[in-house]
Amino acid sequence: MPDVIVIGDGPGGLSAALFLAKNGKEVVVYGQDRTAMHAALLHNYLGVEAMTGSDFQVIARRQVEAQGAKIEDDHIEELTEADGSYTAKTKGGQTVTAKTIVLSEGKGARLAKALGLTADDSGAIPTDKNGLSAKPGVYVVGRSARPGRSQAIISAGDGAAAAIDILSREKGEAYLDWDTPPES
Ligand SMILES: Cc1cc2nc3c(=O)[nH]c(=O)nc-3n(C[C@H](O)[C@H](O)[C@H](O)COP(=O)(O)OP(=O)(O)OC[C@H]3O[C@@H](n4cnc5c(N)ncnc54)[C@H](O)[C@@H]3O)c2cc1C
Repeated sequence: MPDVIVIGDGPGGLSAALFLAKNGKEVVVYGQDRTAMHAALLHNYLGVEAMTGSDFQVIARRQVEAQGAKIEDDHIEELTEADGSYTAKTKGGQTVTAKTIVLSEGKGARLAKALGLTADDSGAIPTDKNGLSAKPGVYVVGRSARPGRSQAIISAGDGAAAAIDILSREKGEAYLDWDTPPES
C-alpha cells in the first residue's frame, strides 16, 4: 500500500509528489499527461524565465521520478472510502488503497465530488489553507480548489503545502524540507 495516492499529474499533483517522495514517502501519481499545461507558455513562473508548459512538464515528471515516486499512465475511474482508507480503481483495472489522497484533478473535481465533497458557489472544493478537505486524509489542490485562480505556480504551491502538511502531521510538529548547498 503506498503512503499517498496522488490523482492528477499537472503542477499541483506533481509538486505534492515531489515533496512527499523526496522526504521518504511511497507515492504513486496517476495521470495521462493531459494537463492544461500543454496549452501554456510560461512567462510568470518565478525562477523560470520562459518555458512552454510542455517542457515544464517533462522536467517536472523527471524530477518526481528521480525522487522515487511512481507515475502511472492510467486514469482513476472510481474513488471510494471504507474504514478510514480510500480505494482508487483505474481504467486499466488496477486497484490501489491508501489512507492519504492528494486530488489534483484540474477542472471539474469529479472524484472529489464523488467522495461527497461539495463545491462552493465558485465551483471550488473547500479546503483549509493546506488543501485539507472535509474528508480526513483527502487533500484537494490546484485548480480544483480554486477554479477562478488557476495559475501553474499557485497549483504547485498548493501541492507543496499539502505535502508539507502531511509530513508535519505525521511528525507531530512543523516539517521543513530545507536543503543547503555543500560547504565550499
Ligand atoms: C491556454 C492556456 C494557457 C495558460 N497559460 C498559463 C500561463 O501562461 N501561466 C500560468 O501560470 N498558467 C497558465 N495556464 C493555466 C495552467 O495550465 C493551470 O493553472 C495549471 O495547469 C493547473 O494545474 P493543476 O495541477 O491544478 O491542474 P491541471 O494542470 O489541469 O492537471 C490536472 C491533471 O489531472 C488529470 N486528471 C484529472 N482527473 C484524473 C483522474 N481521474 N485520473 C487521473 N488523472 C486525472 C488531468 O488529465 C490533468 O493531467 C494556462 C492554461 C491554458 C488552458
